[in-house]
Amino acid sequence: MRCHLEKPFGFSQWYYDERNVLLVEVIDDEGESGWGECYGPASVIQAAVDTFYAPRILGLNLFDTEAIWSHMWRQSLDFARAGIMMAGMSGIDMALWDLKGKKLGLSVSQLMGGVMRSEVPCYATGMYFRDMEEDILLESLVQEGVGYAEQGFEAMKIKIGKNIAFDERLIAAMRKALPDITLAADSNHAYDLPEAIRIAQVLDEHNYLWFEEPLSPECPNTFRQLQDKCQTAIATGECEQTRFGFRKLLEKGGVQLVQADLGYCGGPSEAIKIRNLASSWGINMIPHVWGTQLNLAAATHFLATAYHEPGRAESKRLLLEYDRTENPLRDEMFKVGIDVTEGKATVPATPGLGVEIDPNMLTKYRVHSTEANL
Ligand code: MG
Repeated sequence: MRCHLEKPFGFSQWYYDERNVLLVEVIDDEGESGWGECYGPASVIQAAVDTFYAPRILGLNLFDTEAIWSHMWRQSLDFARAGIMMAGMSGIDMALWDLKGKKLGLSVSQLMGGVMRSEVPCYATGMYFRDMEEDILLESLVQEGVGYAEQGFEAMKIKIGKNIAFDERLIAAMRKALPDITLAADSNHAYDLPEAIRIAQVLDEHNYLWFEEPLSPECPNTFRQLQDKCQTAIATGECEQTRFGFRKLLEKGGVQLVQADLGYCGGPSEAIKIRNLASSWGINMIPHVWGTQLNLAAATHFLATAYHEPGRAESKRLLLEYDRTENPLRDEMFKVGIDVTEGKATVPATPGLGVEIDPNMLTKYRVHSTEANL
């Protein structure tokens, strides 16, 4: 699926002028289907699903999600322990959870072990860069944040990592304009350690909740060095996969919040294991969400079933990432999506993921469709 964006937007690494996503549909022998999505380069992942995984799982029992995951893992272990093939496995796994729920008449959160909350508070992800003069950009980002607050969001996340001087001004300006809002900042691994320490001290001063992807994911040792020098929680994990990858990341220390993407980390099946692994270190997981209503729904169910570490009567909130950037694949392609009102997502009680694709819109945005059969 692909759509072009009316207004390109940027972050610390590049600018987006289109959105792409690979959707996976799994159909059973009674014609019922489940849907999933993959985070990453759609065309490449499509080849992995079509030519590698699909032929190996056709004919298996759809209720055996754990067995199917292990089968896919073992079949590709020598060359796909991480990367885009794991994104393909994630989409298949998500589709199987959706289909299993529909067949059993249970929502994905019920399948995951029980609904602990019927509403999940969201944080608005936005404040991306635009190609404009920095003073004007700064003012427009602050206004964007004020707009989310007016819509009822009590939490939001800004983009940093443009340049140090601008980042420092933006962090301060957002806090000044939104004194009572929970704020987080995401640099998308833009800084080296000295820069990240400097920015973390500014985030500390302005009471930000977390500092996301401050450093390169290739240097997990540096997370501990950074966390030792700041109070703001270090968050990362959207480009990490599987319990094995997260163990290597977490055992170095430093990371305080894990952000696996359910369309990339290995799917809902693996996300539950990553959450359990994080919990053994006393760390919480809130999924990275970027894409359509499918990934948003999967993350909503996941957080509906989350136990906050450590538990207490007045528990902290685990916030659902609610991307507010332009995305017709999220906003126009579904007949039924996740309802977000006043900054809170309602957990679907209908079977499966609880979102429904509009077939007409599917045709409109489809670039290339392939099918694997028995
Ligand atoms: Mg991020």
